[in-house]
Amino acid sequence: MSSSAEVVVVGAGLAGLTCARALQSEGVGVRVLEAGDAVGGRIRTDEVDGFLLDRGFQLLNPAYPALRPHVDLDALGLQSFRAGLAIRSERSEPLLVMADPRREPQWIGQTMRSGKLHPAALGALARWAAPALGVDWVLRNDREDVSRGESMDRAGLHGPLRKVVDTFLSGVVLEDDGSTSTAFVHMLTRMFARGKPGLPERGMQALPEQLAAGLDTPVELGTEVVSVGPGRVETAGGEQITADLVVVATGAEAAAALTNRPTSPGKGITTHWYAVDEAPTDLALLVIDQRTAPGPVINTAVLSNAAPSYAPPGRHLVEASSLLRPGQEPVTDAEVAAQLAGIYGVPTDGWQLLRRDDIPYALPAQPAPLLVREALEVEPGLIMAGDHLDTGSIQGAMVSGQRAAEGYLHRRTGGMARQG
Ligand SMILES: Cc1cc2nc3c(=O)[nH]c(=O)nc-3n(C[C@H](O)[C@H](O)[C@H](O)COP(=O)(O)OP(=O)(O)OC[C@H]3O[C@@H](n4cnc5c(N)ncnc54)[C@H](O)[C@@H]3O)c2cc1C
Repeated sequence: MSSSAEVVVVGAGLAGLTCARALQSEGVGVRVLEAGDAVGGRIRTDEVDGFLLDRGFQLLNPAYPALRPHVDLDALGLQSFRAGLAIRSERSEPLLVMADPRREPQWIGQTMRSGKLHPAALGALARWAAPALGVDWVLRNDREDVSRGESMDRAGLHGPLRKVVDTFLSGVVLEDDGSTSTAFVHMLTRMFARGKPGLPERGMQALPEQLAAGLDTPVELGTEVVSVGPGRVETAGGEQITADLVVVATGAEAAAALTNRPTSPGKGITTHWYAVDEAPTDLALLVIDQRTAPGPVINTAVLSNAAPSYAPPGRHLVEASSLLRPGQEPVTDAEVAAQLAGIYGVPTDGWQLLRRDDIPYALPAQPAPLLVREALEVEPGLIMAGDHLDTGSIQGAMVSGQRAAEGYLHRRTGGMARQG
């Protein structure tokens, strides 16, 4: 069977959906082909025993600029976390709160008493973060970029505050060796300073679903693409589609297989989801463990404190995330449960493990120097989009989809102008 379309987008993750929307809004005919049974790619949500479980713990930061043109944040009903962290340390019992004094003044006293805020360390943190917080900061290729570890060393950020920042960031960029690009981490820092991350009322999948609902033609689900070329796509069902442009928005590994280009290595995460009858804390905060050799959990939260819609009435949902390193055994359920008992100071043997998500490729590794690629073209008529071409984030995936669409629209308008 053969057919044609002006543009074919392969993959209905955030990059593909954003690209399709940007093209459609300019009158371009687009077909979106998705191998999976729903849109969203790495952002999916399942209902399990009345709980909402995302496929791996993640949060939506409403400050991401790429959301603005495409997403109705009010309609998502974002349930925000507080702007701070709860810390389990050797000497803190119960959890100790460190929070942004501007947005969470109720915790100023605790934050000052945390013992982490030596003036020299605060000065070093301010020096390290300053470039990201300026009014005109943008992510660019032409600035020096070193690893986050090196930039913090250069700023003189050491001691207990450095340990807090490192532990928090390892749960965001999914590495604990400090290798991630400072430019990327500065982008995230800027967003944390401007927005309070949260969870949509119906789960993270509500974000891609909203993007898909705005398309003129529905995404074609269950449609795996097996080969692509300039202006050409073949599906597993044997359909041959010709197009002016094919956009490969499949995620890095599938894109590499389809285009024969090298893939970006990935970083993984394991999230454990527990149903509990009694919340071990009422804080709507991410919790990190600063005890000596604490165990594999890099962050945990009573999710339903921030996002009540994630648990049925009278029950609570706890997440615990650990790094899933390439080539290493995933954490065991017993290790995670034991560490959580230590963090929250309650027995966890009665906690019901609803599910564990082992996600070997959650984010592309993004070492320094970060390349925010402007040229996505593989060959004329075949381009790529996805977080692996920008930053490993919701923002990065959407920006890259938008950029792919703009490149095509630019050429199309230029072509039409010449014809006229
Ligand atoms: C556990 C986890 C936690 C995260 N936490 C955060 C966070 O807190 N904040 C943040 O900003 N970002 C976070 N991210 C990153 C963010 O979710 C991703 O960067 C983003 O969703 C990637 O979107 P994408 O469109 O580039 O790729 P994907 O979401 O991977 O989409 C690719 C799509 O292509 C489809 N596809 C693949 N091959 C084919 C084929 N041959 N034919 C047809 N379709 C195909 C796939 O099924 C998929 O739907 C997290 C990711 C994970 C997994």
